[in-house]
Amino acid sequence: MQPRDTSCLFCAIAAGHVPCHAVYEDEHLLAFLDHRPLNPGHVLVVPKRHEPDFHRLASALYGALMQLAHRLGKCLAHLYQPPKVGLFVIGFHVPHVHVHVVPLYAMADMTAEAFERAQRTSPGVAVLVDSAAQIRHALAVMEDDDTPASGWHA
Ligand SMILES: [Zn+2]
Repeated sequence: MQPRDTSCLFCAIAAGHVPCHAVYEDEHLLAFLDHRPLNPGHVLVVPKRHEPDFHRLASALYGALMQLAHRLGKCLAHLYQPPKVGLFVIGFHVPHVHVHVVPLYAMADMTAEAFERAQRTSPGVAVLVDSAAQIRHALAVMEDDDTPASGWHA
């Protein structure tokens, strides 16, 4: 795993060289709003170190990445009340692992056509600033009840 790829957009964002609407950051992970969201609240969760493929991440880092996606999914469910929160890893546009966590209202919200449509439109900066603030607040106040064994044996 390379620490940083100078041609990679998400490495530049993780290094603070390109601005983003961050909702969470720690030593290893960053979560920020997709600036071309499929729906409002569309978040990307990335490891800070460059790695193109999720299956090549160290398992502990992969676990932390997905646990953060899980927490964000709860926040998006709470804030947006969508019928589903989608989670997917694709990576054709930016070859640096990123987990999409997206409020979904219909299956068609996550098609290739929906991605292409989103690339041509952007919510205003004010909308992104507002969404990021709401998600940061939800992360701060919603209890993280993800103890490893909770519910496993229910
Ligand atoms: Zn990268």
